[in-house]
Amino acid sequence: MLHTSDIEEKLISKSFKRRYLEENARQRLGMEMQKFLLFREGKFINPLKKNELLQEYFKEEYDNFFNKKIINIPQIEFCITTKCTLKCKDCCALIPKFNSAGHIDMTFNDFKLYLDKLTAAVDMIRHFVILGGEPLINPDLPKMIDYACQQNKIFIVQLITNGTMKFNEELLSALKRNNKKAYVYISNYSINEALKPILKHEEIKNTLKENDIKLQMADNKEWVTEKEFATDKTAVEVSQEKIKECFRVQCNQVLNGHLDICSKAATARELGLLNIKDSVDIVNSKDLKQDLIDFYTKDLIDACEYCILSNEITQPAIQE
Ligand code: SF4
Ligand code: SF4
Repeated sequence: MLHTSDIEEKLISKSFKRRYLEENARQRLGMEMQKFLLFREGKFINPLKKNELLQEYFKEEYDNFFNKKIINIPQIEFCITTKCTLKCKDCCALIPKFNSAGHIDMTFNDFKLYLDKLTAAVDMIRHFVILGGEPLINPDLPKMIDYACQQNKIFIVQLITNGTMKFNEELLSALKRNNKKAYVYISNYSINEALKPILKHEEIKNTLKENDIKLQMADNKEWVTEKEFATDKTAVEVSQEKIKECFRVQCNQVLNGHLDICSKAATARELGLLNIKDSVDIVNSKDLKQDLIDFYTKDLIDACEYCILSNEITQPAIQE
């Protein structure tokens, strides 16, 4: 936890401090480290200086927001398709629910419209994430990578895949063209023996290496079971403290033109599982900058009030 003794904490709501100020400081530090480690760009950050830098970045972010009226988005995810090659029982984004409800695909024009609106409203997007479902299903992905990487206001672009699909030539070219700003991240489900026959990790690793595209893989050793939402928010009262600590408040996902706190909330809004009133309507907003500020300063997000968080450990990516 950051100490802000010289900052008038009483001015800042807990939520705003955590989801905006601290998250901006963390993402700035994390992305600067990423840029150096992956792309050999920027400066080397001594891990021993991390806390000092976090303090410094936090203070700058405070000054940016309150004195300079500068708004920076710490992290934002664009869900470019709800279609997926897997059907995980405990998918934290509830993606398999779209199989019966009908899928949502983001076209390149949608992508450009949402991103143009956001970059016009803010000064910086520190960590821009493209995901799904499985994003490689979307044929417009190469154009999206190019467009995102052309934005000076975006610091780093991350493409997240589940490692089940081959990268086609068009996608490889786009990633190669942008290999100082974009990188690939594979959610590694290989601990699940049943999935081994369909995972293409080695093939993807080799192709990316041959094309000088940077890759990271996540260690998915265990998941928690997905308990979805309560119908009555009093039923989740006991877990309010846990919800305040939920790490997914940093995810902030765009699906179908709306920004929600996380992918689970986005799915709930889109499929009408909950009555969510606090998502940001990117396309129709009259004052997107103010709507984003309201989003970041809201103490308790509608979806979080109904969200059931489990601590029951399970194997990653068990199929329905
Ligand atoms: S967890 Fe990932 S791979 Fe599994 S269904 Fe959800 S989006 Fe698809
Ligand atoms: S809805 Fe809120 S509490 Fe639930 S996973 Fe998303 S951010 Fe966490």
